[in-house]
Amino acid sequence: MTVAHNYIAGEWLGGEGEIENRSPSDTSDLIGRYAQASRPQVLEAVAAAKDAQRAWASTGLEARANVLDAIGRELMQRSQELGAVLSREEGKTLAEGVGEVYRAGQFFTYYAGEVLRVMGNTADSVRAGIEVLVAREPLGVVAVISPWNFPMATAAWKIAPALAFGNAVVWKPANIAPASAWNLTEIISRQAIPRGLFNLVMGSGRAVGQVLTSEADIQGISFTGSCETGRGVAAAAAPRLVRLQLEMGSKNPLIVMDDADLARAVDVAVNGAFGGTGQKCTASSRIIVHRPIGEDFVDRFVARARALKVGHALAADTQIGPVVSAEQLKSNLSYVALAREEGCELACGGERLEGEADGYYMAPTVFVNTRSEMRVNQEEMFAPIACILEAEDFDHAVALANDTRFGLTAGIVTRSLARATAFRRASQSGCVMVNLPTAGTDYHVPFGGRRGSSYGPREQGRYAIEFFTQVKTSYLYAGDAT
Ligand code: NDP
Repeated sequence: MTVAHNYIAGEWLGGEGEIENRSPSDTSDLIGRYAQASRPQVLEAVAAAKDAQRAWASTGLEARANVLDAIGRELMQRSQELGAVLSREEGKTLAEGVGEVYRAGQFFTYYAGEVLRVMGNTADSVRAGIEVLVAREPLGVVAVISPWNFPMATAAWKIAPALAFGNAVVWKPANIAPASAWNLTEIISRQAIPRGLFNLVMGSGRAVGQVLTSEADIQGISFTGSCETGRGVAAAAAPRLVRLQLEMGSKNPLIVMDDADLARAVDVAVNGAFGGTGQKCTASSRIIVHRPIGEDFVDRFVARARALKVGHALAADTQIGPVVSAEQLKSNLSYVALAREEGCELACGGERLEGEADGYYMAPTVFVNTRSEMRVNQEEMFAPIACILEAEDFDHAVALANDTRFGLTAGIVTRSLARATAFRRASQSGCVMVNLPTAGTDYHVPFGGRRGSSYGPREQGRYAIEFFTQVKTSYLYAGDAT
């Protein structure tokens, strides 16, 4: 099997060693070997990006838009093929994998349009005869550091606006899911862009990631990953006062009130808690149920969780794929043990499942009788595990929803416009969902969280311009025309 290379300064290059990429659905399935970039190669990528960025920033807008559009269209056209690779390496179901690649394509086509919508402002100076122009300019070279759980989409929603607004990119994907990163890079490498504008440097966070966070010629770091790593990235980058965008973990609450359409509430909760095997930053990991309907809701929710078909990511009847790795499975099972120690009651799941193949399968798990202060309700598990909390009334439900250090998404299921509105206003999270799962967002509007979940300007939609551009204010005295 050949080794998939890094893409540096317009060349495909081997590295200093390689890693194996194996499917979490079946560890005997070797997807490929991926070269690990050396420190000098990462520095070479940054240097090439610096040169290429100047050329790209002065490329005509139509040419820039065409590049983004072509990348987006190819991703959408090949979403079945590339989605299958993504599911094979990450473990999400084929429908989820195909959907992710298609969505990645939509980010590129959306930002192809945004290329043409970068506008400045003009103003009269407070001094007579002087005009003021406020213009947006690219940041320069941007490092993109992305996680494994959406190996293509998280990167696409950073790379597309970065390129649209005239920046160069050095991308370090998560080492556990490099095939999707390589596939996206291969598409970008065939576009008419300056040599070095876009670079793929595969390797671990500790090696490649740390070079990027401390490299002087990088003007912005857009990171998605865990809170712990995000804080480390911020600390490493702070001495250079580099611009940062950190999208991190959460502990998203879903409230189910006594006036909810119960069938919808169960659908919303199952989708939010177990979609993507619970490995979503937007997953509903805390389900806050209004006491009068507590028993009824839990019975239905647990019955649905038990009935979910866990299996190989590519099997047609699979509803929940494997967790991503042996380490993740070990961590999940240790949280199951912790929940029991803390006094939670296991309603279903809680164990590893043996599949036909040797993979990392875990039963969808529900804990009841949990309390807000328990670690299982305060720490991100990133697992197919949902904890049920009971609320006395609406105010109590809102207080429980806000009772963590996180704030990415939050949801409520209710038929009451008054309750939905009050929750939307009181929620300490960046995104609020009414009668919808906490996971599942659009690409043309801002996405991001509050408190411990996010740092820096929002991602996606038109708001992405805040991170990927910088403002210049020019004063112009033209003199006397006579
Ligand atoms: P990690 O924080 O472990 O890793 C994220 C990325 O950072 C990876 O590419 C990783 O490299 C890299 N990295 C690790 N250490 C360093 C370092 N010292 N310097 C620079 N880079 C480093 O997250 P996961 O990949 O495990 O992803 C899961 C997390 O991502 C969850 O917490 C989830 O909530 C969050 N997430 C947040 C989203 C949001 O928009 N808010 C969306 C999706 C996920 P490597 O792993 O190769 O070593």
